[in-house]
Amino acid sequence: MAITIGKSSDNDYVVNDLSVSRHHARLVREEGIWYLEDLNSSNGTYINDVQILKKKVAPTDKIRLGATYETDLDSLLKSQNDYSEEFNALKQVYDDYVRAKVKIQSSNQFKTRLFQSLPFALLGVIGMVVGFVGKSSSVWMMFSLLLAVLAPVVGVYLGARQSAKIPQQLQDLTNQFKIDYVCPKCGTFLGDIPWESLRKKKKCPISTCQAKWTNE
Ligand SMILES: [Zn+2]
Repeated sequence: MAITIGKSSDNDYVVNDLSVSRHHARLVREEGIWYLEDLNSSNGTYINDVQILKKKVAPTDKIRLGATYETDLDSLLKSQNDYSEEFNALKQVYDDYVRAKVKIQSSNQFKTRLFQSLPFALLGVIGMVVGFVGKSSSVWMMFSLLLAVLAPVVGVYLGARQSAKIPQQLQDLTNQFKIDYVCPKCGTFLGDIPWESLRKKKKCPISTCQAKWTNE
């Protein structure tokens, strides 16, 4: 984990000061301790007015870059752009989304078919009963005929009603995904880009964001 400091805009902590070099210094954490390291700057890096090359730095230390720019550890740590941990958590968000989407689509397909064929199955059973009960009765014959007409109508209606639920369920899922699958720093929705592809990019696709997703 490192925080780069300097005048160049590609640093984590950008300093606008004439005596600060483009890539002036960096903070590195080694075994839980923060070290300030000078990156061969023109005007030097100082801890409590003593020039250093690499030295352990504490929150109470006064840090100076170049001739006049002063700061401290806490201020520098605020510009930390390492979001590896938060980014790793997004893998679960993406996997859950894909799984839920497939589940909605396949379960609705099954239910739609079920509802469409159910009235026909019911008709078959009733037809058998009619056959036993009232062979000679014209009322039973009419009843059986009516069912034969109604069954497909009811089937088509139930099937259509079920398949109409899909867009709403998918819409709800997508809305939640747009809230959850965002850059942990700038909050920009990361689109339908698979998590593995995002990891290969190693940083947020928004160029001004500078959130980094890998430790190396
Ligand atoms: Zn971002």
